[in-house]
Amino acid sequence: MSSAGRREADRPDSPGAARSADAIPAPAGLRPPVSDLVDVALPLPLDRTFVYRVPEGVSPPPAGGRVVVGFGRRRVVGFAVGPVAAAPAGVRVRPLLEVVDREPVLSASEIALAGWIARYYVAPLGLVLRLFFPPGGTYAVAEGEAAAPARAPERLHVLPADAPPAGEDLDALARAPAQQAVWEAARRLPGPVEQAAFCRSAGVSPGAVRALALRGWIRVEPRPVDRDPYADAPLPEPAPEGPLTEAQATAVAAIREALTGEGGALLLEGVTGSGKTRVYVEAVAATLEAGGRAIVLVPEIGLAAPTVARFRARFGDRVAVLHSGLSDGERVGAWRRIREGLSPVVIGARSALFAPVGRAALVVVDEEHDAAYKQDETPRYWARDVAVYRAALEGAVAVLGSATPALETRTNADAGKYARRVLPARIRDRPLPPVEVVDLAAVEMVAPGLSRPLVEAMESALGAGDQTILFLNRRGFSAFLQCLDCGWVAGCPNCRISLTFHRAAPRLLCHYCAHAEPPPTACPECAGRELDHRGLGTQQVEDAVAARFPTARITRMDLDTTGPRGAHARIYSAMTAREIDVLVGTQMIAKGFDLPGVALVGVVSADTALHFPDFRSAERTFQLLVQVAGRAGRGDVPGRVLVQTWMPRHPVITAAAAHDYESFLRREMVERSGLGYPPARRLANVVVSGPEESAVEAGAERVAKRLRGRGARGVEVVGPAPCPLERLRGRARWHLLLKSESAAALEWTLWELVGAAERLVGSSARLEIDRDPLDLL
Ligand code: ADP
Ligand code: ZN
Ligand code: ZN
Repeated sequence: MSSAGRREADRPDSPGAARSADAIPAPAGLRPPVSDLVDVALPLPLDRTFVYRVPEGVSPPPAGGRVVVGFGRRRVVGFAVGPVAAAPAGVRVRPLLEVVDREPVLSASEIALAGWIARYYVAPLGLVLRLFFPPGGTYAVAEGEAAAPARAPERLHVLPADAPPAGEDLDALARAPAQQAVWEAARRLPGPVEQAAFCRSAGVSPGAVRALALRGWIRVEPRPVDRDPYADAPLPEPAPEGPLTEAQATAVAAIREALTGEGGALLLEGVTGSGKTRVYVEAVAATLEAGGRAIVLVPEIGLAAPTVARFRARFGDRVAVLHSGLSDGERVGAWRRIREGLSPVVIGARSALFAPVGRAALVVVDEEHDAAYKQDETPRYWARDVAVYRAALEGAVAVLGSATPALETRTNADAGKYARRVLPARIRDRPLPPVEVVDLAAVEMVAPGLSRPLVEAMESALGAGDQTILFLNRRGFSAFLQCLDCGWVAGCPNCRISLTFHRAAPRLLCHYCAHAEPPPTACPECAGRELDHRGLGTQQVEDAVAARFPTARITRMDLDTTGPRGAHARIYSAMTAREIDVLVGTQMIAKGFDLPGVALVGVVSADTALHFPDFRSAERTFQLLVQVAGRAGRGDVPGRVLVQTWMPRHPVITAAAAHDYESFLRREMVERSGLGYPPARRLANVVVSGPEESAVEAGAERVAKRLRGRGARGVEVVGPAPCPLERLRGRARWHLLLKSESAAALEWTLWELVGAAERLVGSSARLEIDRDPLDLL
């Protein structure tokens, strides 16, 4: 990035800034108008833009501004990219139907960021630009409908009463007690309040409010609602905090220095309870002091109530919370407050990275390793990485916090691309709970999934009136073959992921490189004959617990039971209220649970996560175990953590048991390098899908042939193979992995592939690209 670009990006509000994009890497064409032709990006899966004509007498739309155009027989809301000198030969240029935004809506750096995301993730610019606008609103332009500028819904508000009424009026009021109550309450209002809420809290009727308003004593008027889901909910009162610890002070000083200097990214590493959130709060305070704006990303906003409470306690209503539960209208309202600078602090999930702050002086990414930061549809961006790029573009600061940093992040820190600060211990030196590893080969099983040591630990927890959480990884579609005598698991000789057992053939298949072999009849390690491919489900474990502890109150929580939104919150509050003794669930219950009543955490099988056919399975298992262990012993009860496994000496298990990230990291980096997985090399997943398996397979073969034949210099091609999820929503799926030392070579190859996609896979199949994939499912 050039220094000129940084200076420009510092002044997003300066007149014309959105147009003077020469200095920064921006989509082509953001130059002063030279013709009446404008390039438009459409929010459709198309890797190109389209030229339209600005009708006479209409001023051209600003770069990034929304326009309505005809596309085929549809009306579509698109984004003006900028003027173009000429249309492609032989194309009939249609006029713009409407210019929605007259003023620039995006800053120069936001437009540059969109351009970068589109290029890097090989995604249509129109789909990327859509991230910067609240869903709903103008987007939902159906055929024949005009686009209206997005507006927040309006409701009646009661305004604070100012001048007291004259003497004789007060007498009249005394004869109307209901109206007097309204007046008293309105006098005490700090600001406008929604009428419905006013009536509820003052115990008055809307009729009395109307009567008083008619007399002119109070004012009632329609105003946009900026409802925030946390506004009514009582938030947990944050505990008072003392001065910063030395480690916290060092981290805050580094962030302050970066804020006033060149900016940059900083990895904040520290176990749960080491004081990271406090550092974020101080960093935001420093940002606001300097007049800047901040974005705080959390993996799931619905689970972030304690974090939100701490920011609210410090910054009050300057905090905007972008919640997935917001209606479209509410989101538009929040967007407006942010754009107007009323809420200089934005907290939300990954999409909050695109809130209209203009320039984000600070972006915090909490639990940066979390998979929720990867978007699983086009554009498939990693919010963590985009946050770092956004900060670089704006000369701003990105703070990435985690107890178990993603290998990519830690590698960047070790390479000096990010600064790194460590919070080495828990606040007040509270110990981390010890993790006891239960060797399944050496213990008696009392019931399916329940070993004697686990059952005994549960008995004593129940006896003491404490709560237990049992974790079981989602088994899902993938079955690996495991020896029940020694724990051996069938793995791919090429890819070192476990082979998936297919019952029909029967055969063992690698879903990365398509290596296949017949399942052995005996274990190659110990000659044992009991080879299992079924594993345990949460339902089975729940039944076993119920049979063993008939009086215990048991609840199961997994994908089947948490379908409706809010189930997670319900179970959480039932746990807090001690209405549940034993909670059985998948790792989703590890997130955001801070439960002082939990004395025992049992991991039913660490192996399920470890043998998931995925190159990140070791990392995910390590993160899961560390996170799960952090759930025990949060209160005064000392916690116990029991992890059942067939592989008690597996380095991932021993490292997690010792809370030893460094030893996990060293070993896993060697593994990844040996096989050319990230972060050692750059990776992309190319998926071909369609209704017809044979057409999909043939298309994938043609893609592989082309890549191997030419064009893919410096890129290794693995596959094609059926995806681990062989069918999804009625479509057959095949994939290829592209690995490269060079980001540039990979990017070039991917764009070249996109250009040829239709010819290669045919019209019935589709080619999708996932760069820096989270998984290869
Ligand atoms: P993390 O985000 O790493 O989990 P927190 O910032 O939530 O850590 O801190 C853990 C606990 O310690 C919280 O209850 C917090 O209020 C408290 N805490 C944080 N910093 C301090 C401090 N400097 N002095 C006293 N208590 C602190
Ligand atoms: Zn064996
Ligand atoms: Zn393989």
